[in-house]
Amino acid sequence: MRLIVLLAFTVAACAPRRAPAPASAATTLIANARLIDGSGSAARVGGVRIAGDRIVEVGTLRAQPGERVIDAGGLVVAPGFIDTHSHHDRGLFDMRDAVAAVSQGITTIVVGQDGGSRSPLAEFFARLEREPPAVNVASYSGHGSIREQVMGEAFKRTATPQELDRMRALVRADMEAGALGLSTGLEYDPGIYSDPQEVVELAKVASAFGGRYISHVRSEDRQFWQAIDEIIAIGREARLPVQVSHIKLAMRSLWGRADSLVRVLDRARASGVEITADIYPYTYWQSTLTVLFPERDFENRTTAEFVLREISAPEGLLLAQYGPDTMYVGRTVAQIAAARGTDPPTTLMALIRESLAMEKTTGRSAESVIGTSMDERDIERLLAWPFANVCSDGGLAGRHPRGFGAFTRVLGEYTRDRRVLSLEEAIRKMTSLSARNVGIVERGRIEPGYFADLVLFDPAAVRDMATPEAPQARSVGIRSVWVNGELVYDAGTATGRHPGRVLRRAAR
Ligand SMILES: [Zn+2]
Repeated sequence: MRLIVLLAFTVAACAPRRAPAPASAATTLIANARLIDGSGSAARVGGVRIAGDRIVEVGTLRAQPGERVIDAGGLVVAPGFIDTHSHHDRGLFDMRDAVAAVSQGITTIVVGQDGGSRSPLAEFFARLEREPPAVNVASYSGHGSIREQVMGEAFKRTATPQELDRMRALVRADMEAGALGLSTGLEYDPGIYSDPQEVVELAKVASAFGGRYISHVRSEDRQFWQAIDEIIAIGREARLPVQVSHIKLAMRSLWGRADSLVRVLDRARASGVEITADIYPYTYWQSTLTVLFPERDFENRTTAEFVLREISAPEGLLLAQYGPDTMYVGRTVAQIAAARGTDPPTTLMALIRESLAMEKTTGRSAESVIGTSMDERDIERLLAWPFANVCSDGGLAGRHPRGFGAFTRVLGEYTRDRRVLSLEEAIRKMTSLSARNVGIVERGRIEPGYFADLVLFDPAAVRDMATPEAPQARSVGIRSVWVNGELVYDAGTATGRHPGRVLRRAAR
């Protein structure tokens, strides 16, 4: 029944629209498609003509002599998905096919998130142009990375005016290199030690360039409402659009409050702050154990008990990485506690103590955890907020299944099966809205003149397959993916082409 409803769509005759094409360019026609153009408009039957890296014609099109024709077989053709919060750049130069991304239909990744970016960005961009991957890459300038460079080990305090000046200069350099704006991770070291004014001052630098602000806000649980107030204030004071990264209500006592959150966001918008959000479709996040202790009081048993009661139960805290004992990877705090013959709060404190000791000697992060903290009803409500776009927050080889399955999970589970969104709205939230929320132009729509980033998929079959146990299981139903007019993924295989480009900030 569901399937029949899903397949019923408006067939509107549409006059072809054209953009001037280079006369000599060999063209490709994707014919017999159900076009969902990214704008939110109803699907229509038609074709898309590509010349070089651009879409040149859309509508009822007839094949031209000598033209390459791809029969879409009535499946959906949509703009390639834009992942506004991605960590798919980790290891990208070794995995330039970016299979985790393209196999779920992603054609552009936006990195430099949570306050962490390659620094300076100009060098990263230059390397991307020498060794391009399959996907396009845009980046924010990361506050945390810059703060670390300027303050070094002495980051557990507010910055001095001189330090703030040096940070300003580094943000400015990244903005000149083409950063989309400033990103922060205010729940993490070293961002957590910044005072709100430091962030406002650096956001003003991004604003002066027509950039934006994107943030893993200061708290996703205990101080959540203050954290939302802070990002709204940043938008107001620095006069720039702000985006809440991977929006969530990650504490039991916050569950069911999505309506209140939407009211706060809508009120801010009505008052002139252009606030938006991105979201991934899972009830569990991946982060560090230390982030669960905002006071960094890792030996405080009361805090450990609070974490396990309010934020994530011991059964819901699964180690994704654990340097001191790799046998613990894939096991929960509850299981580890049982194996060690101790209780969960004791175990949680010990795991942090042991991993911090290891980090001290290696200088590298020694742990990572998947925590179940969210409620499905809140995810559905926030996903449906008209200004929230879809993101993955995933990586090329991470333990969280979002790296391979976030977008296909929205298309399968949330759109087709649960009908939280219409298919057109889901696509809008993966394409044109995403582009708008991060300031990417000429992508995110099927329109003459736009870049030919496209995905061909079967709406009846599309589904995520990745799970915490098999985080790299590939999605099904994604048939073909084009980036800048070149086929990068087809019938379950990367084609080995790497046409991805650096997307630098356009004027706002
Ligand atoms: Zn984050």
